[in-house]
Amino acid sequence: MRLRNVKGSRETIADNKYVVHDEESMKGKWSEFFGNTNPIHIEIGMGKGQFIMELARQNPDINYLGIEKYSSVLVRAIEKREQEEGMTNLYFIRMDAEYIENVFAENEVANIYLNFSDPWPKDRHAKRRLTSTHFFEHYDHILAPDGRVMFKTDNRPLFDFSLEQVPEAGWTLENYTYDLHHSEYNEGNIMTEYEAKFSALGTPINRLVAYRT
Ligand code: SAM
Repeated sequence: MRLRNVKGSRETIADNKYVVHDEESMKGKWSEFFGNTNPIHIEIGMGKGQFIMELARQNPDINYLGIEKYSSVLVRAIEKREQEEGMTNLYFIRMDAEYIENVFAENEVANIYLNFSDPWPKDRHAKRRLTSTHFFEHYDHILAPDGRVMFKTDNRPLFDFSLEQVPEAGWTLENYTYDLHHSEYNEGNIMTEYEAKFSALGTPINRLVAYRT
């Protein structure tokens, strides 16, 4: 993703009430943070937040945390979030998902969404892909036993890699499709910013759902 430095984004985030600033101290205490025991779903690499905002609107009984590495992207999600004052089930964390085990306790997360994750095309960077066995190990530590990892992408090489990594990590593919929008799994699908852009160009969208065996 090409990033434009957004002036003042770090300052905006630093005192924003929708961003959790002491995320590591929340480990094991997210139910206290939200003030209820509703399930917690996270999106890693949420970008500008269109997808997770719509999920939070549609599912007030689920708590959502959007994770994004870059301030200049996160500010765009914050701008949207600020239009929804009454919403109590969506917050953001600015962090690199590499450290996700410092933020969530065992079984604390009910579902993980990965949408249009960075492909890291060079072999030597494969570990950085959010669907590598390396990341599945992280997810293994935080995801509830019946939890799911749901991944969408336009990028076929990344998708093929991911289809191989799931069993290699000891996980199981529940279902997958190379063309989500023309598949039986499209009902209720919420489009992300990238998804809207790529599908408008006619690029098929791949999706897989994985669970721990
Ligand atoms: N999910 C959005 C969508 O589908 O429109 C954004 C997709 S964009 C290609 C990927 C996003 O993931 C970027 O905003 C990037 O900063 C973020 N990202 C990549 N690696 C990450 C990581 N290790 N931890 C947190 N965010 C990450």
